[in-house]
Amino acid sequence: MQEEKSLVTLAENIAAIRKRMERACVMSNRDIKEVKLLLATKTVPSSRIIQAFALGETFIAENKVQEVKEKYTDLQAYSFEQHFIGHLQTNKIKDILKYKVSCIQTVDRIELAEKLQNKLAADNQLMDVLIQINTSNETSKFGIAPEQALSFIEQVSKFKNLRIKGLMTIGLFSSDAEKVRACFKRLKTIQQQVIEKQIPHVEMKELSMGMSGDLEIAIEEGATIIRVGTAIFGQRQYPDSYYWNEKE
Ligand SMILES: *Cc1c(COP(=O)(O)O)cnc(C)c1O
Repeated sequence: MQEEKSLVTLAENIAAIRKRMERACVMSNRDIKEVKLLLATKTVPSSRIIQAFALGETFIAENKVQEVKEKYTDLQAYSFEQHFIGHLQTNKIKDILKYKVSCIQTVDRIELAEKLQNKLAADNQLMDVLIQINTSNETSKFGIAPEQALSFIEQVSKFKNLRIKGLMTIGLFSSDAEKVRACFKRLKTIQQQVIEKQIPHVEMKELSMGMSGDLEIAIEEGATIIRVGTAIFGQRQYPDSYYWNEKE
């Protein structure tokens, strides 16, 4: 009974998000097929993720390598795509490559890119990555400063086992929609600049931006991946600072 009720809630929440996505696409004249819904599953138990799979969602992301690891066995039998959206510590690289992660969205420093490259090359593996940009310029947030994005991407493009697919950002937390929008516009501008540079081995198709509170603005500004947690799974037990501001 409890289980059934929670499944209904989950189905309703997902349907509501899909509706918001559709409306935002209509408003901005975009094809809904261009925007993927990524479920941010931090703190969400495997059983709940499996319910989301049953409802047709198969695109998930974790913030901590420890959580990827803990849920790995439970989810092993299912077919899904998993990205990593948390701050990646270099001493966790070895671990993350063991599990089912197809893209690291948070490459934000050369040391991380270099160590990832070395490990991938040693294992003869490739990894899709996004470059995380700090579009809000808040010192508390991870990501490359917008002014440094181009040169950083040129450097990372030399690491042949990393396949750059686009950019990721966390927008400003603000009730001022125009300030939030400015962050997403900044990411779009960087995307255009990188495309113009025609850097070999760099694809710029993906823009991962927009969350529960600002997904409409992100879609209007060109998001191809929106990352949604709270609006689907409910409030989390820990504040986001726990995930976004951990120290190396
Ligand atoms: C948790 C998280 C999200 C989802 O945020 P909600 O506001 O819960 O939708 C998106 N992106 C990142 C990087 C996250 O850590």
